[in-house]
Amino acid sequence: MTAFIIEHQCPQCGAPAELEETDRLFQCGYCRVKSCLDVPGPLQYILPHRAPSGKELIYFPYWRFKGMLFYCLPGEIKNRFVDFSMQAIASPDFPFSLGLRTQTQKLRFAIKECEGLFLPPELPKAELIADLHERFSAEIPKPILHQAQIGETISILYAPFYLDTRLVDAILNRPVGNITAEAIAPLLTKAQAPQWSLTFLSTLCPQCGWDLEADKNALVLNCANCRSTWRPKGGKLEALKSAHVPAPGPEGLYLPFWRIQCDIAGVTLDNYADLIRLANLPRVAQPGDQQRPFYFWCPAFKVRPQNFLTFAAQATTCQVREEILTGPPPGQLHSVNLPLQEAVESLILTFAGFARPKQHMEEILKNIRIQARSALLVYLPFEESPHEFIRPVMNLAIAKNLLKLAKNL
Ligand SMILES: [Zn+2]
Ligand SMILES: [Zn+2]
Repeated sequence: MTAFIIEHQCPQCGAPAELEETDRLFQCGYCRVKSCLDVPGPLQYILPHRAPSGKELIYFPYWRFKGMLFYCLPGEIKNRFVDFSMQAIASPDFPFSLGLRTQTQKLRFAIKECEGLFLPPELPKAELIADLHERFSAEIPKPILHQAQIGETISILYAPFYLDTRLVDAILNRPVGNITAEAIAPLLTKAQAPQWSLTFLSTLCPQCGWDLEADKNALVLNCANCRSTWRPKGGKLEALKSAHVPAPGPEGLYLPFWRIQCDIAGVTLDNYADLIRLANLPRVAQPGDQQRPFYFWCPAFKVRPQNFLTFAAQATTCQVREEILTGPPPGQLHSVNLPLQEAVESLILTFAGFARPKQHMEEILKNIRIQARSALLVYLPFEESPHEFIRPVMNLAIAKNLLKLAKNL
């Protein structure tokens, strides 16, 4: 999988810097100042141009999707990887997709300081998702009971063009068909500076002033001093409720999970006794199981989507019986790099992974509605073995290699 490199400047000292698409923490190589990126909505980039000097550039927006599509069929779940782009303004004059233009290019953020005529995106993200599924579900056997995407990166890419006697692609320096200035004049009246911006926030704990530590792709930051958890939101660090199950010993690693409570309609799945019946678990309901609410447990860390679904189904069928304490744990923590929204989008697929019997899945999925009501970030302790992190009470082993490979997802 290719990931973009983004050229940027340190907000503190102006030194040039390079970021990866998934970076959310940035430390300047010159002034050493650390900051955390607050990214509102999808990332927006511009592609570099090779236009002759003096040409006014016209930037046309494209939606870009990179990730995995999932199709739930009677008895099985199919998936495929997709790297896809489409116009973010419906126009017969500009190319329909970016094609290979995004390969091996260094990008820049599309912020309001960028020069040129920027055409604002008009088609919503929902259109991109609908278009994707229409295109890629054609070869999937029917009926498709449910479709979803997991672990995707969605961004807006502005491609450069300019006007000579005709419209010219400023990456390839080749005319685009036979498009005249008059043809695109109505579109150009809408041009404006990019309306998107991103903020670099201080990484000091808002509560106690301690330096917050995290991996560069982390979506949340923990304070080791006052045991609080923070995430960038609305131009500042906002407190996030977190918790943990204490580890039996000092060794091992805590992996983060989203514990999601849902309103579920179409099947009865309110408590642990319901789960035993619905997942056909090899155990008899105990007194008290009806009082234990049912939660979805989804990884809050990236792994390949196939593994993500397996881990979510395993953690959800086991639930957590131990005591849960408030705040992030002391010790070694794996960073949170899978947003809650992604976990929520996966719930029906996770459900389809553990619900039984499989022969009735068509009927069950036709009726089920799952609505997330509340979520809690919970760190669960895993024991370390040479090649895996293991949580015996969940019968869950996660290969170290999987976590390593996930850095590029
Ligand atoms: Zn700097
Ligand atoms: Zn603190």
